[in-house]
Amino acid sequence: MHNTISSLTFDNTFIRELPADNETVNYRRQVAGACYSRVKPTPAAYPKLVAYSKEAAALLDLSETACKTDEFTQVFVGNKLLSGMDSYSACYGGHQFGNWAGQLGDGRAINLGEIVNNKSERWTLQLKGAGPTPYSRNADGLAVLRSSVREFLCSEAMFHLGIPTTRALSIIATGEMVERDMFYDGHPKEEQGAVVCRLAPSFTRFGNFEIFAFRNDIATLKKLLDYTIKTDFPYLAGDSAYFKELSNKIYLKWFEEVCKRTADMVVEWMRVGFVHGVMNTDNMSILGLTIDYGPYGWIENYDPNWTPNTTDAKSRRYRFGNQPAIAKWNLAQLANAIYPLIEDVDSLQQALVLYSTRFQEQWQNMMASKLGLRAFEPENDKILISDLLNILSLVETDMTLFFRKLALVDFQSDDFTSQDILLKYFIDVYYVPSQLTSSYLEQITDWLKHYAKRLSKDNLPHQAKRLQMDARNPKYVLRNYLAQLAIDKAEQGDFSLIDKLLELLRHPYSEQPDNEKFSQKRPDWARNRIGCSMLSCSS
Ligand code: AMP
Ligand code: MG
Repeated sequence: MHNTISSLTFDNTFIRELPADNETVNYRRQVAGACYSRVKPTPAAYPKLVAYSKEAAALLDLSETACKTDEFTQVFVGNKLLSGMDSYSACYGGHQFGNWAGQLGDGRAINLGEIVNNKSERWTLQLKGAGPTPYSRNADGLAVLRSSVREFLCSEAMFHLGIPTTRALSIIATGEMVERDMFYDGHPKEEQGAVVCRLAPSFTRFGNFEIFAFRNDIATLKKLLDYTIKTDFPYLAGDSAYFKELSNKIYLKWFEEVCKRTADMVVEWMRVGFVHGVMNTDNMSILGLTIDYGPYGWIENYDPNWTPNTTDAKSRRYRFGNQPAIAKWNLAQLANAIYPLIEDVDSLQQALVLYSTRFQEQWQNMMASKLGLRAFEPENDKILISDLLNILSLVETDMTLFFRKLALVDFQSDDFTSQDILLKYFIDVYYVPSQLTSSYLEQITDWLKHYAKRLSKDNLPHQAKRLQMDARNPKYVLRNYLAQLAIDKAEQGDFSLIDKLLELLRHPYSEQPDNEKFSQKRPDWARNRIGCSMLSCSS
């Protein structure tokens, strides 16, 4: 059964069960003792639908027909509140780039309410860019088209890749201009504004807990954690009597669960070459979802030191290869935050060890699956994998293409003593052919020989191995330059490439002969172009 927009029904547990800010006037302030403030979206003058995701709409039991109505545009740009919507912004803090930053909060996010769909799943609807809130600090509460296109496309691309993520229902241009100084260098420009409607079971972040611990408001901290476990992790709570009696054991179980989910999420980022770019604790979801798509990027040439975020270019805290360690650091901040409810340092530390163990295990399994192995065998595969990663970083090698090409090679019949065969398969994955020295070619040929031997031990038929690899190594990802091309067109009022990429990225693991060009490595013109390889936090 499909809903129309006006038949959507809401069940707003977050605001019903958690303490509200008493102030309802919308001005920027510190908000104490409350998990959220009620706030209304700022109306947009000339809203225009840019794109919607039919799969995300289905989560609300909305048909595509409903998405094409004017009412959809009016509601999801923030011009019209439906009956049952009770809009609010959440209070949270966070560690930014390693330092405690105090109160942050939903500075440009406004939650419209929660929907329980036909499958009994709970989805919170959230507008991003619909105007200032009490948490906007010195900023405007708005978002530009450029960053909204990036958030919209990447949320849905990640979903189709099978990676835990918040979802994006729609992107709507506001018809109003927003001023942004993209590189914070005194050259502000007017850009078009937009609003993305995001969906997630909940948008609670590590920072939602940190703020109350920091303020020593243990009562609110406890309310938030009890609510979170009851609503988002009911299977941990058991029946309510047990819940009351054994609360600190359940809190610990909850923390272990967050550690596990976070480990699994980061393994998935490493699998596809995703770099979040701003892994501050306020951008970490307690559900283990990828959240807040800002200056993220996709690894092109495999380089563990790469970060897309120009704001982080010096220290590279959030570089690709550092993501597992940063996730653990962030979890340690969450552990500190909930310590007053558990008061057991050893158990919290053990949970952090559990994160490392889980990450390691899952990462090894993931790498084995990328290589088409039946299972990870420590005695052979540790070295096989570390040698490969080393070789990939020796010369500029496109990570995504490399694994797809590797799957094509039939090691049962091809002879890898010949470098001609090597180049036949791999020439397209290299960015700078002149880097292919004889010593490099020798190293990779050697590795391929070891790999061939390892495969022969598994004895999987070539086709079966290829299918396994292709299901784990995407052919199509949202390459940084592709997103930028879609943005360039969108800024001219042409949204066709957004739709095209959305369609393409619905089937990231499939061969799509008509779309071959979107799988190719980054063209030369994009190497140093802003938006393609360098992104700022300005959005
Ligand atoms: P981010 O680094 O984008 O996750 O944002 C960090 C904090 O700044 C969060 O509290 C955001 O809500 C807030 N923020 C970012 N951009 C804006 C904006 N344009 N207006 C108001 N708040 C913002
Ligand atoms: Mg954020």
